[in-house]
Amino acid sequence: MRRKVAAGNWKLHKTIAETKDFFDILKPLLRGESGPEIIVAPVSLALWTASQCAAGSSIRIAAQNCFYENRGAFTGEISPGQIRDAGATHVIIGHSERRAIFLETDDTIRKKTKLALAEKLVPIVCIGETLQEREAGLLRKILERQLTYGLEGINAGAADMMLAYEPVWAIGTGKTATPQDAQEAHDFIRGTIRRMLGNEFADSVRILYGGSVKPDNTASLSAMQDVDGVLVGGASLDANSFIEIINNL
Ligand code: PEP
Repeated sequence: MRRKVAAGNWKLHKTIAETKDFFDILKPLLRGESGPEIIVAPVSLALWTASQCAAGSSIRIAAQNCFYENRGAFTGEISPGQIRDAGATHVIIGHSERRAIFLETDDTIRKKTKLALAEKLVPIVCIGETLQEREAGLLRKILERQLTYGLEGINAGAADMMLAYEPVWAIGTGKTATPQDAQEAHDFIRGTIRRMLGNEFADSVRILYGGSVKPDNTASLSAMQDVDGVLVGGASLDANSFIEIINNL
């Protein structure tokens, strides 16, 4: 049985004070260690604050990105080691906004994933197709490419890593994939991972769905056999809506 996951990606939102306010509201609403695994990804500058606020609760903290070297002349970057030092346990890698706006490739995503694993962070590796690719019938081809090149040579146990299927056309648009669309993609992803990394990994790795997840569509997505949780952008910014999502998983 794979434990469900609710991961909130705050993107470029919230100050330090707003980060504290969020945890002040969320923490009393949690039902202890039972229920879904909860992960919050604030901006890098709030990682330490968030990890202090989450201390003593079941909430884990993620960075939204990392670099693929731990130190050196890389102005503006943050490393997996530094993320770990700031109290985070997870890192989102290859979000579609990083791929589209910051021109990240499967190659950089693989390097980041390898270093994150070496630094004992749990990477949440994001994949997904654009609308054009979907309409051109390329869904499977794109997912297969992202998995094959993005995870090539990765040596991880399933507990050490998560995947997130995020169709680009559903992110921040209000258009959610139907539960059936999500299930079909997740089933394909699990099958591809099975061929690449074996049965044990494929059966236990958590594959999250992301793309306009809201409290009222969480349960139907979560009911799908291969949807092991959600990666939530906009609706994770408000603690009351995030707790509803957590409770609906
Ligand atoms: C995301 O940021 O990964 C995301 C899925 O955003 P939203 O929930 O706002 O579509």
